Amino acid sequence: MNHFRALRRKSVDVDIGGLIIGSSAPIIVQSMTNTDTADISQTVNQITQLANAGSELVRITVDRNEAAKAVPHIRDQLAKRKIVIPIVGDFHYNGHTLLKENPACAEALDKYRINPGNVGFRNKKDLQFSEIIEKALEYRKPVRIGVNGGSLDQALLTHLMDKNASSCNPQPARVIVHETIVQSALLSAKRAIELGLVSNRIIISAKVSAIQDLIAINYMLAQRCDFALHVGLTEAGMGSKGIVASSAAIGILLQQGIGDTIRYSLTPSPGENRTKEVHAAQELLQTLGIRAFRPTITACPGCGRTTSEIFQKLAKEVQDMIRDRMPSWKNLYPGVETLNLAVMGCIVNGPGESKHADVGISLPGIGEHPAAPVFIDGKKATTLRGYNITTEFKDIIERYIERRFEKK
Ligand code: SF4
Repeated sequence: MNHFRALRRKSVDVDIGGLIIGSSAPIIVQSMTNTDTADISQTVNQITQLANAGSELVRITVDRNEAAKAVPHIRDQLAKRKIVIPIVGDFHYNGHTLLKENPACAEALDKYRINPGNVGFRNKKDLQFSEIIEKALEYRKPVRIGVNGGSLDQALLTHLMDKNASSCNPQPARVIVHETIVQSALLSAKRAIELGLVSNRIIISAKVSAIQDLIAINYMLAQRCDFALHVGLTEAGMGSKGIVASSAAIGILLQQGIGDTIRYSLTPSPGENRTKEVHAAQELLQTLGIRAFRPTITACPGCGRTTSEIFQKLAKEVQDMIRDRMPSWKNLYPGVETLNLAVMGCIVNGPGESKHADVGISLPGIGEHPAAPVFIDGKKATTLRGYNITTEFKDIIERYIERRFEKK
């Protein structure tokens, strides 16, 4: 973790409803609802799910009056449930009007997200941008200036393309698109500062759906400003494609010290829980050794040397146990998220990996003596046999946690 801290780009801290985003704080995991914000109970339920999954900030769509009017009620109902989480309003086209006409919404939100490409058209753009910044000043709220490749400022793009075409050394169009995205973000931030917003109330993001473009654009932003950066691949897609693409893009940036808050923009399958994007972001931070959220399980993939079903069941049961017990462990045993467990299939790598873990088990492979040695803190502690191995191993983990982590 120290290696990563040394690499981290210095950025200005921003206070969002008590949550700090910036280089002096941990990298924050955020998420976004996909409910109609006007549907108060569904939105409150989804924010609750996301918060319980570990999202530290949630963005909601504020697209019309009904949605804006729902925001203070959503805030109240979350408070009744004791869910304390900053809520960000996502505005496009009509944010200036919605904030003006709905002061309770402007007050209840912890941050406003503005997309410079969608803030208004032609001569209305500057005025409407100013009106949102005035509301941010009036209600003392930070803003995220979030540029998106799919809704790029066309006037700025045309201007830079024309300039490039008439230069004696024209650059490829892709380079000009990158420059447009970066300039759109930084010119908007400059305008916000001219209007009176201070830099510790500004977060910048620039999202596109192609990994190499995302990396190039964020490198440029990191070099040209010290605003806190929100990083994520937009429209990452479904399933493993979305997770792998986001992990590759965000992981490369984080490893270069770029990014103060991250989001996985995954498309859920119909009916699928929205919390997958939170878990994926946490897994990335934990895998990179940047933050720990829950105990790590090292498990081998299994092969022809092990009775896969028994091994897979044990690995799954231990993983389910961690997921189910973590909400209570987290409160009772500070530091439990740093625990390392190993569930291994046979003698080839089992004892070695198990010894490296805090608690590890090596199952008997095919043809091996039917016994499962358990290692605790690098030493063989016991050998489990028979049909009750899973339950006994889970008991050993529980007892180890009680012993090792001081109860609050
Ligand atoms: S530890 Fe054993 S079962 Fe697991 S992958 Fe290696 S050889 Fe296969």
